[in-house]
Amino acid sequence: MTAAATRRRCRVQVAGIVQGVGFRPFVHRLATRHRLDGWVRNTSGRVDIELDGAGADVAAFLAELRAEAPPLSRIDKVSAVDVDVAETDAVDEGFRILESLSNEGGRRPVPADVAMCAACERELFDPSDRRFEYPFITCTDCGPRYTVIESLPYDRERTTMRWFTQCPECEREYRTPGDRRHHSETNSCPVCGPRLWIALPSERVDSPPDNTDRYGGPLRLAAALLRGAGILAVRGVGGFHLAVDATNDDAVRRLRERKHRDAKPLAVMVRTLDEVRAIARVSDVEAELLMQRERPIVLLESLSSTRIAPSVAPGLRTIGVMLAYSPLHHLLLSLADRPLVMTSGNRSEEPIAASIPDGVARLSEIADLFLMHDREIESPVDDSVIRVSGNSPAFIRRARGYAPKSIPLPCTALEPILAVGGHLKSTFTLAAGDDAYVSPHLGDLDTLETLQHFRATLDRYSRLFRIVPRVVARDLHSGYLSTRIAAELDAERCIVVQHHHAHIAAVLGEHGHDGRVIGVSYDGTGAGDDGTSWGAELFVADQKSYERVGHLRAAPLPGGDLAVRTPWRSALGYSSLEPSMAAAFANALESVSDDERHAAERQVQRNFNAPLASSMGRLFDAAAAILGVCRVARFEGDAAMRLEALAGSRAAEPLPFPVINVSGRLLLDPVPLFAALAEARQRGERIEDLAAAFHESVAAATAAAVVTLCQSRGLDVVALGGGVFQNARLTTSLRARLEAVHLKVLTSISLPANDGGLSYGQAVVAAAVLHDHQ
Ligand SMILES: [Zn+2]
Ligand SMILES: [Zn+2]
Repeated sequence: MTAAATRRRCRVQVAGIVQGVGFRPFVHRLATRHRLDGWVRNTSGRVDIELDGAGADVAAFLAELRAEAPPLSRIDKVSAVDVDVAETDAVDEGFRILESLSNEGGRRPVPADVAMCAACERELFDPSDRRFEYPFITCTDCGPRYTVIESLPYDRERTTMRWFTQCPECEREYRTPGDRRHHSETNSCPVCGPRLWIALPSERVDSPPDNTDRYGGPLRLAAALLRGAGILAVRGVGGFHLAVDATNDDAVRRLRERKHRDAKPLAVMVRTLDEVRAIARVSDVEAELLMQRERPIVLLESLSSTRIAPSVAPGLRTIGVMLAYSPLHHLLLSLADRPLVMTSGNRSEEPIAASIPDGVARLSEIADLFLMHDREIESPVDDSVIRVSGNSPAFIRRARGYAPKSIPLPCTALEPILAVGGHLKSTFTLAAGDDAYVSPHLGDLDTLETLQHFRATLDRYSRLFRIVPRVVARDLHSGYLSTRIAAELDAERCIVVQHHHAHIAAVLGEHGHDGRVIGVSYDGTGAGDDGTSWGAELFVADQKSYERVGHLRAAPLPGGDLAVRTPWRSALGYSSLEPSMAAAFANALESVSDDERHAAERQVQRNFNAPLASSMGRLFDAAAAILGVCRVARFEGDAAMRLEALAGSRAAEPLPFPVINVSGRLLLDPVPLFAALAEARQRGERIEDLAAAFHESVAAATAAAVVTLCQSRGLDVVALGGGVFQNARLTTSLRARLEAVHLKVLTSISLPANDGGLSYGQAVVAAAVLHDHQ
């Protein structure tokens, strides 16, 4: 008897992202191709397969399982165990997809939302297709996932699609092996699927009115409103968007006014890559990012003359662009026939509105019209934002398409951990075993709405991933709302993590880097362990601990948090360090009223509400004020973004920015740098050149300090963390300087460098600390 003829029975378990990605239909096709009998089914967290057939066919199946797995899947582990043919029940002839088994206690990956696939797009615009212009078209390769899943395993009856019973035609597709919609849990069509309707802000309708023209009517009305400069609230995949004609400056201004969003850049949505190229420069890496099925907003360099209204991204040379990701967006864009501003449906800084009552309550003052649908959004989620920094993608906001995919923990969590993050750009991380589940971007924890959103998302994550935290990790800052949330949780143990150490630990965790490094943590401000504010720190650090070995020279920050919006205050704080150089700082204070200025000076003199801070964010603010680029900021980071925009990729030599050894700790002293900037400006040098020189000065001084530390400590790996490293010019220059002397540079990969990545860093520290105390 030859091996090929030997009968083999085999039980296979596949772990990874294998649910909601067309995995069972794929297994069915593969098994059928190899003439195998048996079955496949979802259990919690994995897919189980039983195979029965010729030995060679089983072997071929196993070999091809990884190689040919569906594009959206990620196989982490395959285990195959042979079972005795004689001892087990006979397998029915043929290969079947069995009902899912819900297995309490197992860890279960939850698939993220996926943009409409090319096959669905073809059907959407094919007049002969039964789903022509159907705004909820999906298949096993595409459609909403995380946003519609109520619980696991992923089957229609545990998603918000359970309210729609498939019509016989859809049911037939669902049941037919080989069909693109075989076991597509979100399958629907114009006969049986969700409905679309138009509502005026004054109408409190939360279900579709009877006998409307189901799709064409509402879509055409909405498109007409947009062409006529109106503001449309569109209920989409993760929540509401506010949409206006991106080429109409009046419309964009009106949106800003009503949304109370003065200057923060707005994202633009178009349908094709060619349309993106008409408004921005697109590199190959950027094109790839735009086309990814996660469909993030990508920050691109805008072209100088385009149709886009100037008020979309005032004063910046970048523009955030995303490609349409849902069929509804495709239809709306093709009917409106112009790029659309698509910004989160919220009032400034609140979480995105997702339910119909919430949308109506929060957006009726802003929108002229609502485009509604009745596919419920179980988990609201914002759009993700990425920019390319020296050819690598860097997250600014991680949300739709990426959350809730897991991120590996560098060391196993011995107890389930909840890390509550910081205050701004808040996220939390739930960690258990080797996996960390980072929440999508939740917003700034300033408002009651964000706090509620935080709690609701945490409940949902705990339920979906079945993690009941026993250890909580929080920031050192006692005033953060996240600290209060941590206190309420009544965990067995609370681990307090210094803000900038969390930034470095996040980078180490993502790279699975075990040893000690020089950590450079540059951001706004965070609580230091000496009672002052930190934000430009050099550490010798590992995942568990840190030693502060250098920092920016600290200066008083008159007005405390107020200084974030008023860069001139940062400059005033530095000028108080060296009164003899007051003249250099004069320009920063131009146009500031005498009263305001004197009040701030008194705060510094009396040491009242003028905390000492070593903040890189505030250093950028002070430089922008001295150069006259930005004395009053429209939002946090405004001054730095404008400085970076001015600098562009212009070559420049660094100005003096000495690094001094003060009793064993390195101090970066920016006062000579400010003096040089002010002097050069008085000589009439171009602002653009000075902005470039400022960036090079920060990069050169940092590199000099890092090289000194690496030599004295015998280290050759450097981790860069914190929001300042979203500045591509700075990061690229610093990386090049360090790599030139053969240091290895680590930066964040799949999480933002800013406070959005903080909770993951806290979880990494907590996991490492738990190991130590075992
Ligand atoms: Zn599809
Ligand atoms: Zn149907």
